[in-house]
Amino acid sequence: MSKNSIETSPQKSQFGTRLKSILAKEIKSVGYINSIETLGALDGPGLRSVVFLQGCSLACKYCHNPECITPKVGRTYTAQELCLELLKYRSYWGDSTDMYAGIATGGITFSGGEPLLQADYIQQVSEQLAKHASKHSLARIHLAIDTSLFVPQFHIQQLLNRIDYWMVSVKHLDTQAHKFLTGQGNKHILRNLEYLDGQLAAANRVKSLRLRYLVIPGYTDSTSYAADFVRLASSLRSLDSIELLAYNSHAKTKWEMAGKKFSFGGIPDATRNQLELLAGQLRAAGLKVIY
Ligand code: SF4
Repeated sequence: MSKNSIETSPQKSQFGTRLKSILAKEIKSVGYINSIETLGALDGPGLRSVVFLQGCSLACKYCHNPECITPKVGRTYTAQELCLELLKYRSYWGDSTDMYAGIATGGITFSGGEPLLQADYIQQVSEQLAKHASKHSLARIHLAIDTSLFVPQFHIQQLLNRIDYWMVSVKHLDTQAHKFLTGQGNKHILRNLEYLDGQLAAANRVKSLRLRYLVIPGYTDSTSYAADFVRLASSLRSLDSIELLAYNSHAKTKWEMAGKKFSFGGIPDATRNQLELLAGQLRAAGLKVIY
């Protein structure tokens, strides 16, 4: 068979088409990354490398990372490039062999922005990390994600077995207030939360979910709001903890630096006392609270 006949055979041309599509996919397989924090102590269990991905599906008035909202800007990394970059910091992570029991000493957190918008890419990064873990004597690299869950459900499904620890930022439990604060109602998010919790519980992955509760004076700091939060949290079977975060207006400077108008002025910062009172209410309901 001549060279030409091979190249023009149906199998070869089908293979060529497949190869082109694989290559095209590979070329597109880059992540848009805003920044990497090498030693994060506030974004999941233990010391972590935190990857801030670009793009968000919400538009929170008080967003502390307004520079991460716009999609497809920032530096691009292939999955392998990001993996190799992250592995430079592995000595911080410790051993995370028992991550489902919630005692991981560290790892990697995907944050943003809304990292689940780049679920395909995170999947590829996690595959690369898994390949490299054994080479570096790590039993497994513990992966966490910080998400609002305002994404199509298949993005969650895609990463269910890749992400060890899910941190869900609950913006508001009332859908109208949620819409005012973020531009979107919360019904889809609550459905996704129920789905995620159901899947984690079915896999016996207890203590693999954290709810993040941003305490905003005048919006989420009342005892009645906290009682609603208790009801939600108590219904979850995979819940590990609730993290109380104090609203502060430092974001204003970041908005101004990003050339954006900060429209959430005049809201006072949440105080330590407010957090302590809310923590007491949540703990009285048997919930684990950190802040
Ligand atoms: S979900 Fe997070 S990153 Fe997105 S706008 Fe809200 S606070 Fe900002």
